[in-house]
Amino acid sequence: MTARNVTNAGWDLHCHSAYSDGTESPEGLVLEARRRGLAGVGITDHDTWAGWDEAEEASRRYGVPLVRGTEITADVDGICVHMLGLLYSPDDEVLRSLFETTRENRTKRMKKMVENLSADFPITWDDVIAQVKEGEATTIGRPHIADAMVALGFFPNRSAAFAGTINKNGPYYVPIVSPDARTVVEAVKHAGGVAVIAHPAATSRNKRILTDEHIAGLAQAGLDGLEVFHRDNSPEQQQRLLGLARDLHLLTTGGSDWHGAGKPNVMGENTTDAATVEEIARRGAIGIVR
Ligand SMILES: [Zn+2]
Ligand SMILES: [Zn+2]
Repeated sequence: MTARNVTNAGWDLHCHSAYSDGTESPEGLVLEARRRGLAGVGITDHDTWAGWDEAEEASRRYGVPLVRGTEITADVDGICVHMLGLLYSPDDEVLRSLFETTRENRTKRMKKMVENLSADFPITWDDVIAQVKEGEATTIGRPHIADAMVALGFFPNRSAAFAGTINKNGPYYVPIVSPDARTVVEAVKHAGGVAVIAHPAATSRNKRILTDEHIAGLAQAGLDGLEVFHRDNSPEQQQRLLGLARDLHLLTTGGSDWHGAGKPNVMGENTTDAATVEEIARRGAIGIVR
């Protein structure tokens, strides 16, 4: 009988903490990775690295290897694209100012949506802030508004609060203003990071998805990889993305997009293999915490 290595669990490179729209602290995120027996985990909050230090501390305490990253909102030709920036230097001025602008735009947008809602629901910005766990450092998103609507008793849960109010087709929705994806790729590369398009074929998020030409253009700008293994990419789309990655010499990653109790996604439901993680580490400006 041949001995088989069954401890070779993958890395979940796409997880959110309460520093954006997840429900758990960075420590809770690391503990969940340990509980699931993952080889390692990534923290990728929206447009911030605010959770990195806490995650690093927990990673060392519990012996769970950690990839530090951020999920950056971007735009291609009117299509909303999420870009995972991994292992970049947080001291980089270009990336810093990009995050600052994005976060300012996000806050303006959220305040505008609350203003729109307040015409029909007695809700204030303070009600939204009351839903934010990590204070000023948190990237405030629509889920926080939805949670405030639930807390005020207007809706039974987050999904109901989204439906018909602040979802894309809802009357109170305000569209996002995001930097161009090419600018984001270049900023991540400038900061020595690794740029991966998150859920590139998520039809639930966009009416149109990125074409082969869009992805080839970003590859030319320095894109490193595609998050092929994600629940929002259909099996057919995963095949298409695998073919594209082969042609364009891009890395292929997987992640759960875990949000704690905020979404049904289970940590470790999609993962990245060890060889790809080592290549990401080789390209990154900062190391994996091990
Ligand atoms: Zn995303
Ligand atoms: Zn995400």
